[in-house]
Amino acid sequence: MNTQKLLELDRRHVVHPHLPLDTQNRTIFVRGKSCSLWDANGREYLDATGGLWLAQIGHGRDEIADVAAAQMRRLEYFTTFWDFSHDRSIELAAKLAELSPEGLDYAYFTSGGSEGNDAAIKTARYYHAQRGDSSRTWILSRSTAYHGLAYGGGTATGFDDMKAGVGPMLPHVAHLTPPHPFRTWLFEGQDPTDYCITELEATIERLGAENIAAMIAEPIMGVAGMVIPPEDYWPRVSAVLRQHGILLIFDEVVTAFGRIGHWFAADHFGVTPDIMVTAKGLTSGYAPLGAVLLSREVGETVMTGHGYPVGYTYSGHPVGCAVALANLEILEQEELLSAAQRLGAYFAERIAPLAELPVVGEVRQVGMGIALELVADKQTRQPLPELPTGRGLADVIRDETGVVVRVSSSHNLVFSPPLVMTEGEADQAINAVATVLRRTRPDGTVASEGTQA
Ligand code: PLP
Repeated sequence: MNTQKLLELDRRHVVHPHLPLDTQNRTIFVRGKSCSLWDANGREYLDATGGLWLAQIGHGRDEIADVAAAQMRRLEYFTTFWDFSHDRSIELAAKLAELSPEGLDYAYFTSGGSEGNDAAIKTARYYHAQRGDSSRTWILSRSTAYHGLAYGGGTATGFDDMKAGVGPMLPHVAHLTPPHPFRTWLFEGQDPTDYCITELEATIERLGAENIAAMIAEPIMGVAGMVIPPEDYWPRVSAVLRQHGILLIFDEVVTAFGRIGHWFAADHFGVTPDIMVTAKGLTSGYAPLGAVLLSREVGETVMTGHGYPVGYTYSGHPVGCAVALANLEILEQEELLSAAQRLGAYFAERIAPLAELPVVGEVRQVGMGIALELVADKQTRQPLPELPTGRGLADVIRDETGVVVRVSSSHNLVFSPPLVMTEGEADQAINAVATVLRRTRPDGTVASEGTQA
């Protein structure tokens, strides 16, 4: 089908998440290989986002296609409800138990991150109910958290605009202050961790520990712009939660499987949650699959009583599980976790000079998750306004340079490339962003090519 026809049919029939009403443009990809993508016009792009934070092993790998095809021929589908099981989901659950922090022994499979967070919230409440604590229903989350857009995780998500017009949301969800040290004004002059701990303890006191099931949190906040908490934040938060019998749910949908140079952010912080939600990098996007990992204690508790009340037709889909196993093998064999650390450090070094630009407030990097927080004013650190045209900075960068980056939560420029990216491609991505940011004015507009801001 030609590009014009595809464009016309897309506008007429396809619903796009987050598409602003005044945008008629589409970038229609038809092919991918490693870090390259090609659109329907044959233009080549460099993928510096891995789509939505994934594509760990790169696009278009024949090994994975072969594994998926072979699995489809052998057993394309059967359920994992009741006592049914199949070899691939068993092998994957065992592999995840081996890779994940000590004690996360059970895996419940989903089709993605939002489903995983809904399952995690339900699991936490059900765990307490099974232990006779059915009043423990409150879920603690944080402002600017992203836990997907289904109703459970979507309520925990801390962006009001993503909930407007669809209320009422899930009851009993409270949002705390995010540990975002760059935003000094959030902490009333105190140390960010001290402030967050005082607030957490006050919230537990206000709601009553006996009414709180869990805290759900991204260990590093991806959509908020790779927000890295102070080193003492997770050890102190997890100690307070443990003291009050509140479960910790790590949403590692972005951070797991090499994105930050480790299997899990839990390894990076040395904190083991009770429940860990994963997706994205589990298959590098070759199949829609997520895994919710449960501690032995939580897993064994929720498999008692009237039966675990979470389950979907595609839980543990054999093709998804086969693809995940092959993907994890590639991550291991090609040593992509250490590659993420190495290339992430290269990115950090090459991108550091951009911090001098008037619109760059802070550069943050962990492994292959890199963000530039854009500001209108370096002193006040107020966010750079969005372009008034409906076309954002990422659109300008993509159209001008062919490099795909993302603007996340309105004013963070994010790189989350495939872990197989080369240094030359990293330079290409950084240069593309630099040429546009040099021309970006504090009001968010961009001067035309060949001129300065
Ligand atoms: N949790 C986090 C931390 C995410 O970043 C995302 C998606 O970006 C989700 C959950 C939702 O995952 P999905 O889009 O697969 O439902």
